Amino acid sequence: MAECPFLKICPIWADFAEVEKMHWLGDYCRGDKFEVCERRKRGLQGLPVTNDLLPDGSSTKA
Ligand code: SF4
Repeated sequence: MAECPFLKICPIWADFAEVEKMHWLGDYCRGDKFEVCERRKRGLQGLPVTNDLLPDGSSTKA
């Protein structure tokens, strides 16, 4: 199965509840959608990646 190469250094999941984290990891970080992750795309473009940015482009602050 594909896995995002940034998973070990991506800081966003440290404070997430396990159930919520598994949802995102299953869809994105360890799933088919990691290549469209907004965190990944912004990082690869050299743009700032704030800690509230979720893989689908939404914010934990919303
Ligand atoms: S949040 Fe995005 S950049 Fe971070 S590990 Fe998951 S897929 Fe990769």
